Amino acid sequence: MKFNILIFFSVLLASCAPGQDEIVVYSSRAEHLIAPLFERFERETGTQVTWVTDKEGPLLQRLKSEDAQTPADLLLTVDAGNLWLAQQQGLLQPVDSARLATNIPAHLRDPAGHWYGLSVRARTIAYNTDQVDPANLSTYAALAEPRWQGRLCLRTSKKVYNQSLVAMMIAELGEQPTEAIVRGWVTNLAAPVFSSDTKVLEAIAAGQCDVGVVNTYYFGRLQRDNPDIPVALYWPDQQGSGVHVNVSGAGVVANADNVDGATRLLEWLSEANAQADFAGLNLEYPVNDGVDVAPAVAAWGEFKSNVINVSRAGELQADAVRLMDRAGYR
Ligand code: FE
Repeated sequence: MKFNILIFFSVLLASCAPGQDEIVVYSSRAEHLIAPLFERFERETGTQVTWVTDKEGPLLQRLKSEDAQTPADLLLTVDAGNLWLAQQQGLLQPVDSARLATNIPAHLRDPAGHWYGLSVRARTIAYNTDQVDPANLSTYAALAEPRWQGRLCLRTSKKVYNQSLVAMMIAELGEQPTEAIVRGWVTNLAAPVFSSDTKVLEAIAAGQCDVGVVNTYYFGRLQRDNPDIPVALYWPDQQGSGVHVNVSGAGVVANADNVDGATRLLEWLSEANAQADFAGLNLEYPVNDGVDVAPAVAAWGEFKSNVINVSRAGELQADAVRLMDRAGYR
């Protein structure tokens, strides 16, 4: 349910008396991906969860302007770049939890505990199965080679997913090698950059381009609707540092009234019991190693993922944006 702010506050007031331990979540993760989980948490624990969904920009702005008056206890969003930004703006507080430390691998959470990854999203190479022999694919960097001239499709550099990808390449390869690669990508573009991963995949399926870089769950959605789509996923950098991964995740709000409740909800979401749905509803990968991936996701095969701490994507985001601008990646 998407509340406007007035309705939201009146709901809060109305529910204030009995629901002292209510937990309020601000979420940029879509309604249909979180509602079933929160409803289950309510049934299992008796604690009421109220949520507001919006894009991350407006949510961060709202947290800032509400300051100490904010009703929010937990911020749930996508991409380590966004979580890192919220932390930088002082909107999150550190949480120290043995359960979170056990359930979530160290590279998928803030080292200081301001935020924790709850699902893993892999940003990988997609290719047209009629046009490309996957034996000719290898790394993200190799998409800059002349072989791919006029054959590559990319989403806009304005999207945080690509900023995080390039930030992680800077962390690993350094600025100059990364810039050379990004320039090569731009040279190889078959079409102007697209506004979404889905459009990149549709362009690959239509033969407008042969390869692209996308988050796997967008491919999963297309494949679910069209099982015969002539597109497949390729896992790059398997001889090197692995597939670029990012997270959706959450952190306890700096000015939360219900720190205990928010921490309990965060812990609950990291448990095996909730992880299968948290990841599975969006065809993502669980952060909790003890949980199986959804069958449709498992069908894409296993891969080695990059284990650089995803917080580097935030730290190097501004450098990545400048680099992409210099390289002409729009
Ligand atoms: Fe997405």
